[in-house]
Amino acid sequence: GIRVRFAPSPTGDLHIGGVRTALFNWLFAKNKGGKFILRIEDTDEIRSTEEFVKVILDAMKWLELEWDEGPGNENLKYYPYCQMERKEQGIYRKYADELVAKELAYPCYCTPEEVDIMREKAQADKLPPKYDGRCRHLTPRQRKQKEIEGRKAVIRFKMPGSGATVLNDIIRGRVEFDNSLLDDFVIMKASGIPAYNFACVVDDYLMEITHVLRGDDHISNTPRQMHIYNVLGWKMPEFAHVSMILGADGARLSKRHGHTSVLEYRKEGYLREALINYLVLLGWSTEDSQQIFTTEELKQKFSIERCGISPSVFDPAKLLWLNGEKIRSKTPQQVYELFIDWLKYTGNEKLTETWDVELLKKALILEHDKIKLLKDIPSLVDFFFTKDVDYKEEAVKKTLLSEKSKDIAKLVLTESAARLPNQRDFSAVSLEQYARGLAAEKNIKAGQVFHSIRVAISGRMQGPGLFQMMEVMGKEDVVRRINITIN
Ligand code: GLU
Repeated sequence: GIRVRFAPSPTGDLHIGGVRTALFNWLFAKNKGGKFILRIEDTDEIRSTEEFVKVILDAMKWLELEWDEGPGNENLKYYPYCQMERKEQGIYRKYADELVAKELAYPCYCTPEEVDIMREKAQADKLPPKYDGRCRHLTPRQRKQKEIEGRKAVIRFKMPGSGATVLNDIIRGRVEFDNSLLDDFVIMKASGIPAYNFACVVDDYLMEITHVLRGDDHISNTPRQMHIYNVLGWKMPEFAHVSMILGADGARLSKRHGHTSVLEYRKEGYLREALINYLVLLGWSTEDSQQIFTTEELKQKFSIERCGISPSVFDPAKLLWLNGEKIRSKTPQQVYELFIDWLKYTGNEKLTETWDVELLKKALILEHDKIKLLKDIPSLVDFFFTKDVDYKEEAVKKTLLSEKSKDIAKLVLTESAARLPNQRDFSAVSLEQYARGLAAEKNIKAGQVFHSIRVAISGRMQGPGLFQMMEVMGKEDVVRRINITIN
């Protein structure tokens, strides 16, 4: 069966590019009925942290990119799923020793500084900046000598040095690499920790990965990895390299272009479906350029073959639009639940502590179409819950206090304070009749009646439809607010 993996390094937050890779792998597995594996590549001793592992797992859980195997979901056949744990079991050492025994790899005693000098020199001579292979031919005695000098060895893999390596990439087709540009690379560091290219191949092999789907920033590693498979006689997975995501300025997506960490988007009040829907469009498309998908639909439609070669540009405005669309596709009850989750996640529960739940639900129905982000909700509905009216200066100046309309406003509000308590039917329809009736009776414009009442009860010019708003607020509160305003 199909087995794919997402193999993040816990050296930072899960960012947009990483999630997209995870998503494509997950969708591919779902589409093919295969397995999606999460492997933690924590071999960068300095930059990897437990905290980042947690952040990555949390982000994946939030996005519901559940893994069939990985941390917390171990399959004993392939366990463990963290490379440092695998290292402790001697998994990489065993294959490195095998390569050295077969003279396919060798200990190299050069220090990083010495290798840097070699590279600089090569560059000065207009040659590819490579390690020059000087430790390839050390005799056992020379090696002993280096060790006596106290030098620590890395293990380097012997590359052919000439000819070409041909990759048949599912997305990019045939890609040829000139072997003369690839030097003998490190597979085991002096610390005994495996280097990425080696650990990745050993694990992809042992975990029986059938397809390696990753960002094309890794494509230059692929020929190196292919040589390891070849010399060990291991069956190679299929490779697919997804194009990069760029910012609007054409540079690789980075912090400069806004949030890159997924959990930042969660904090802003994006829905997981919106992010997923948006990210899948970065590098994949259907024949008819469909834009909005449910996750179920994506599982059915996704294919690697329809991933594009050209880089995609990250467009925050489109993501925001999609988020609004996704919110509109929810029922008001769902929006309410999403909002409550968001409050908890952002530690803002206090904000709504005193809010009446039923009133909030009704207010959400009125504002549903306007919500673009969950974080917009408080400012759209908070006026329903205030004890005093929170008057916006601008709104008051234009209505209740303006020379032109203040007398009319006063009349409308005094009449309303007197009459509305007797309004039996406080539905939007009948409130509109009331307001229009008052305008006709006093020979003033309906708009003036509407504006005066709106500002008196909400403090603002904008908001939901006035009569729906009054109905939701209820008679008692509407009258109370009008009285506050008059006095
Ligand atoms: N740990 C690597 C990364 O995060 C994985 C690359 C790969 O998928 O092979 O970039």
